[in-house]
Amino acid sequence: PTALLWFRRDLRLGDHPALLAARDAAGPDGDVVPVFVFDDRLYDPSGNPRRRFLLDCLAALDADLGGALVLRRGDPARVLPDLAAEVGATSVHGSADAGPYGRRRDAAVERALGDVPLVRTGSPYLVTPGRVTKRDGTPFQVFSPFARAWREHGWRAPAASPDDVRWRTGVRSDAPPPAPELGGVALPPAGEAAALAAWARFRDERLTGYAEGRNTPGTSGTSRLSAYLKYGCIHPRTLVADLAGEQGESVRRYTDELAWRDFYADVLWHRPESAREYLKPELRAMGYDSGPDADQLVAAWKAGRTGFPIVDAGMRQLLGEAYVHNRVRMIVASFLVKDLHQEWTLGAKYFMEHLVDGDLASNNHGWQWVAGTGTDASPYYRVFNPITQGKKFDPDGAYVKRWVPELRDLDPKHVHEPWTAPGGIPAGYPGPVVDHAHERQVALDRFTRLRGR
Ligand code: FAD
Repeated sequence: PTALLWFRRDLRLGDHPALLAARDAAGPDGDVVPVFVFDDRLYDPSGNPRRRFLLDCLAALDADLGGALVLRRGDPARVLPDLAAEVGATSVHGSADAGPYGRRRDAAVERALGDVPLVRTGSPYLVTPGRVTKRDGTPFQVFSPFARAWREHGWRAPAASPDDVRWRTGVRSDAPPPAPELGGVALPPAGEAAALAAWARFRDERLTGYAEGRNTPGTSGTSRLSAYLKYGCIHPRTLVADLAGEQGESVRRYTDELAWRDFYADVLWHRPESAREYLKPELRAMGYDSGPDADQLVAAWKAGRTGFPIVDAGMRQLLGEAYVHNRVRMIVASFLVKDLHQEWTLGAKYFMEHLVDGDLASNNHGWQWVAGTGTDASPYYRVFNPITQGKKFDPDGAYVKRWVPELRDLDPKHVHEPWTAPGGIPAGYPGPVVDHAHERQVALDRFTRLRGR
């Protein structure tokens, strides 16, 4: 028999349960046709960095498959039944998709395939979204109890990496979409081997310092695996298996971050509408700013020209590397929502256009968390102070100086408040576009008014 292996967010050959399922379905005499479908519904809104990274990951996967990867373009519900008929496949295999569109699409593909089963094995997560619930079967609303239950649930051992799969070659491919021009954006090297190498480097060189290092954007304290995890060049199961038996705060913290990834996917699975809508709908009525002045402030935020160095560094990192350090994602998101009084959806959309790791669950729930409209458990309205955050997490100004060259010559004690420098604000760098203390109060007043209703 012939089996189709439909690659989606699992662009690797190692630790890939659906690949094993396809091999087993094909049996010792059968073969497997590996396929990736460019679905315009997902590909078009991806933003250039992600489109480019995906194309590069596919090229790496094709090389690992000895040139067997079949590329097709169009609606999977049309493309896959056609391909199955063309190659005589009796089953189609893939990992489960937990996102709202992916679930609808898979149901449509399943119907369109008719008698040919669509078999889902595994998912991009340590625990398949929807599996961890409270005792009464309802979903967790906040992270900490979820993470406890998630650790108790445990996760599977990695899948074996087989060398006995017979990949069929010579099946026709469509030409991939043209690779987008990125200008100067520097992306990480794509593919499974690059992901494994990045993981090994992090584990050997930086993991022990992760508990502290994860919060200092001026050092490379984090694993930078997010884009690889997003496209499944590496599975989080591979990472935790590699850490089995290791103790310590850093290992616990790192596993916690993987739990956040699972948590947000779980929230999205239970509440698919939360990708676009406020998890706390009452906060929609906060009162947000619009008009030409507001537009100008948003433009300054997007360009990294707000006059708040840590905010500007973050927004410039986004444009320069299609990536932003986690601490700084929180700072720039808080600034947009609470200093510039914009809805989180605007920022989430902009991030999704530019991030190479842009992921609906992590991004949109990350934004909702910062905006206070999501799964944040704190009873008060948190407003990050960009100056104190900068001083605390980038004390020597290394991160700001890397991304904001106008401030490179400043003494560290002035970097986060360039208006205090003896020579004033360096030429070419803007003054602060808003008064943080004032805007903080405006945000708190709007919140209090809303709560008082
Ligand atoms: P590490 O610190 O090395 O963490 C390891 C892995 O854990 C990450 O690769 C990621 O997969 C996961 N992880 C870490 N922190 C989080 C988190 N807070 N939520 C969910 N998963 C996490 N992450 C994305 O992968 N895609 C996004 O689109 C995205 N958008 C975000 C938007 C905002 C406003 C915020 C506050 C956070 C967002 N994050 C997103 C989470 C986090 O910022 C990134 O995962 C992290 O910065 C990636 O860098 P790293 O791989 O070096 O992380």
